[in-house]
Order: sequence, then structure tokens, then C-alpha cells
Amino acid sequence: MRAMNDPNFNKVPTASLITDIKETSKRIQQLSYVAFIICFITIASYLIYSLFITAMLLGILMVGISICIYYNRKGFQKITKPVLLGLIMVFLLITGFTNGLAAGGHLYYLPLLFALPLITETTKSSKIELGLYFIFNSLCFAISVIFCPQKSTWQHIPDEMYQSMYYINTCGSMLVSTIFVYFSYYFEKKYATALVNQIARAEDAMHIRTRFLSNMGHELRTPLNGITGITSLLKKENLTNDQKEYVRLLKYCSDQMLNLVNDVLDFNKIESGKLLLHPIAFNLKSVLQQAVLPFKYRYQEKKVGLQIELNNDIDELILADDLRLVQVLNNLLSNALKFTLSGEVKLSAECIIKESKTITIKFSVKDSGIGIDEEDQKKIFESFEQVINENTRLQEGAGLGLAISQRLLELMNSKLQVVSEPGKGSTFFFTCKFSRAYASSEQVFQTKIDYDFKNMSILVVEDNPINKMIVTKMLKDCNAYVETATNGKIALELLLIKSDFNLILLDLQMPEMDGYEAILHMKKMYRDIPVLAFTASLVDEPMKNELLMLGFDGYITKPFKTAELYDKVNKINMVNMQMEKYLQLINN
Ligand code: ADP
Repeated sequence: MRAMNDPNFNKVPTASLITDIKETSKRIQQLSYVAFIICFITIASYLIYSLFITAMLLGILMVGISICIYYNRKGFQKITKPVLLGLIMVFLLITGFTNGLAAGGHLYYLPLLFALPLITETTKSSKIELGLYFIFNSLCFAISVIFCPQKSTWQHIPDEMYQSMYYINTCGSMLVSTIFVYFSYYFEKKYATALVNQIARAEDAMHIRTRFLSNMGHELRTPLNGITGITSLLKKENLTNDQKEYVRLLKYCSDQMLNLVNDVLDFNKIESGKLLLHPIAFNLKSVLQQAVLPFKYRYQEKKVGLQIELNNDIDELILADDLRLVQVLNNLLSNALKFTLSGEVKLSAECIIKESKTITIKFSVKDSGIGIDEEDQKKIFESFEQVINENTRLQEGAGLGLAISQRLLELMNSKLQVVSEPGKGSTFFFTCKFSRAYASSEQVFQTKIDYDFKNMSILVVEDNPINKMIVTKMLKDCNAYVETATNGKIALELLLIKSDFNLILLDLQMPEMDGYEAILHMKKMYRDIPVLAFTASLVDEPMKNELLMLGFDGYITKPFKTAELYDKVNKINMVNMQMEKYLQLINN
């Protein structure tokens, strides 16, 4: 597997970053220095009072600590940490025997306990490590208390000296404990601040990325709208065979690019939580039948069979976001085609549970392609992940299709799953529970209609000449009467002369007077003319609400699909026709 982008591109700080923040290696180094300094101070006093055995043990400890410091600097903290702690704990135990309990050396087990969290990382395995240090520390302490004599049998220590040693060690252990507790608090605060800063930085980066992609999308969609629109128009012209082939290639490339831009924008929208579903009532079976039509030619071309098994139980009106459901199936069908060299692909949808208000459907796309091994199956649903081997090397794609599909299905309370065997094929499947719709006929999504807008007089307000030309041509193809204006100001002047338009398509970003300003004047003067925003921006829920508040009756995003443009214009046409009928009835 490979990540096509920086692996941290989509990620917020993780445990590994937190570990870095704790700087455990630095803390071990500091603890070693503290232990070394304490040893250095105490070794002098032991020599003055002729406690040579303890002084010698301290000397050995200092050598051990120096070695730990050296290797810790070299990056071997995984070994130096247990060695250092072990050395100190064992040293305290031995001095319990050489000095006697009355000297109070065993009291240093307490500050050692406080030091443990300072030098332990926050990973799962460090929990066990911390537990082991704690047990070993407590064990040494218990052995000291139970087995060490009150007074030393190894060296002669006068009673007054025991008194002052106990006094110094008690104060010393209290002091060191206090210092460690303070450092625990200090570092915890430091780590928390660093973590909050890191999260804030990651969030900032996410926002910048979201804004950047959204603006880029806007910039890319506008020229793409031109390319795809003109290609569609060109296809209708009388072309030579060569020209037809060029147009076909042009269409293929522009569609590929549009898919890629849409994928990146969709992914961006999903990641920033802005993608919402827009359920409508539609017949599941007919939408699925329509959804596979564009694939038939592509499958035939590659000589891969395409079987569609749609159970009669799914001939049902359901409430769902048809576009997003079809988007998931499109992704699965194009992947199946991409990764199947021969054999066939089967799309099936079967009803699993049918209740009075809901219906549960299992969708699956089964192919006889190259398959995916078990390790890779876990990763393919991540963004920008692709399996790279000799079979997939030549395939295009950004590794976003399955990630988007998975996120879309999560929004539908479903989950995309896969069973696959390398060399034998894959089956991608998911189960969705939909509300059943008992809608009136006009609510039903119409998939194929021969539109006739002969009664429509439409004003297209758009500054981009290519977009203007394409929309005008498409509307005129359906017999609509179309007038155009290149900005809001010209549109308003035109409306003063001719105000009997049935619909205005109004671009939002235009020179002189943009759509946001123009709509305010239009709604003041010509309240009854429906106005659809014509925009290349991503329309999320807040923007949609803003458009409605401004007075728009809906919107069409660019690059628009011909069907979407016709569908929205047709809805307004139907309302107009009903109004006319109603007025005729009243007049009669
Ligand atoms: P891409 O744009 O690369 O197709 P996807 O997210 O759709 O991105 O798929 C991710 C990866 O999963 C693909 O690159 C491919 O390696 C693997 N994959 C997806 N579908 C199939 C399939 N039907 N058969 C074999 N491999 C597949």
C-alpha cells in the first residue's frame, strides 16, 4: 500500500505526538543528573564520617549513573531507564543493610515513586512498564523494612549520627518528593498547553485546507463547466468519424477531470462535516436501472459482462438521497470494471426486511477481478490509499472513491464491507434501511422526460460567455424563449422593458452588480418571477439557507448536469402551467 499524500494530511495529533511532547529522554537525563548530584554531595559527607562501605557503594552508583547518562545521550533510553531505576532501587536496598534502617535511607523510595510518571511515556505498553517499576520499588521498600537491621552490623555508626542521618534523610526525601511533585504539575501543564496548541494548529491547517480546496473547486469548476458543456453540444453536430473520436476522447478526459475535482470537493465537504443528505422520494428499482445505463457501453468496450439482479421487492418508493446512493454504486461499478480484466460484474439489490414504514435493502457489487489480499482490505477504505502491484499499476484514480463511499454510507447509517480473494474477485456490499414513501406522483423523481419549455420565457444572467452560450443552447433545444444579460445591472434594465419572464437564472459572481445585490432589486420589483441561483460555489446547508433568505427559489450548481438543469426548470414550468390552468378555471 502507499499513501499518495502526506500521511498526516488528514490527521489530528495522535499518541505518538503526545509522547514527543513528554520528552521522556530529556526527563531521564535530568533525573540522572539529580541523582548524580545527590550522590556527589552525600559521598563527601560519608567519607568525612568514615562510612567507607556506603561511600564505596555510592561511588559504584555514580559510575553506573554516568554510564546511563552517556548511553541515554546516545539515544538508548529504552535500556538506560530501567537500568538507572534498578540501580537506584538496589542501591537503596543495599544501604539499608550497610547503614541500618535507623539512618532513614529507605525513605528515598518515596520521591522515586513521584519520579516514575515523569519519565514514563503515555503509550499502552508504558502502563505495564509503570506498573513493573511500581512493583519493584514497593518490593525493595518492603524488603528493606522487613529484613534490614535497625542499626548497621557492617560499620560503626554512633547514635547521635543516626539521629542526624535520619533527620537529614527525612528532610531530603521530603524535599526531593516536593520537587518531583512540583515538576509533575509543571510538565503536565506544559504538555497540556503544547497539546492544545498542536490541536489548534491542526484545526487551523484543516480550515485553510478546506477553504483552499473550496476556492480551487470554484475556480476549476467554471472552466470545466465550459469544457463539458461544449463537448456535449459538439456531440450533437454533424462530425466526421475522426472528429467523433476526438470529441469522445475529449469527453472522456473532461469527465475524468470533473470526477476527480468532484471527488476532492466531496471529500473535503465530508471531512469538514458540511455534506448533508437531501432525501427525496423515488422509485429505487428504476433509479438503479438508470444508474447502470452509463456503464453498459464501458463494460461492453472492455468485454466484461455486466449483470443486474434487481429483486422485484425493490420496486418501491423510498425516501433517500438518490444522487448520493447512486454515487456509491457508481464508485463500486467503476472500480469493479477497473480491476476486472475478464469475466463479469454483478450488481444486485435485494430486499431483506420490508415493514410498513421501512424497507431494508442489501446492495452488492461482485466482480471476478484481481481481488484484494486481507492486509490491504483493511486499508482501502482510508483516503488516498491504493493497492500497488503489477495489476493495479496502470490504473488511474486518487484513492478517494471508497473513502467517500464509506463516509456517504456512514451518513446513511450503513457501512461498506468487502469480501475478496486475490485472483478470484471481490464483493463490496452494504445494507441500508430506508423510509418507504407513499408520495403523490409529482414527488417522484423523474428520470427520463422529453422536456418542452415552449411556454417558458427565461432570463439567463451570466457573465461567463461560454456558460451563457451553453445554457442558452440547452434551454433553446427544449423550445424555451431565452434572453441573456451579462450582469445584474443589465438584467434589471432589461426587466424594466420586459418583465414577463417565467424564470430568471442568476449567476452569483458577476462584475458591476453581482447576483446577491441583483436578487434584492428583482424581488422588490418582480416578486412573482422565480429566480434560481446559478453558482459554481459549493452550496452547503448555511449557504442554501442564505440563498433562500435572500429570495432565491432554488439553485443550480455549475458545472450543472443537463438533467439537473432540465429537471429544475421543468419543476417551475409545471407550477406555471398549473397556475395558468387555475386562472383559466377562475376566469371561466
Ligand atoms: P481509486 O481511485 O484508486 O480506485 P478507491 O478508493 O476507489 O480509489 O479504491 C482504493 C483501492 O482499492 C484501489 O486503488 C484498488 O487498489 C482497491 N480496489 C477497489 N475496488 C477494487 C476491486 N473491485 N477489485 C480490486 N481492488 C479494488
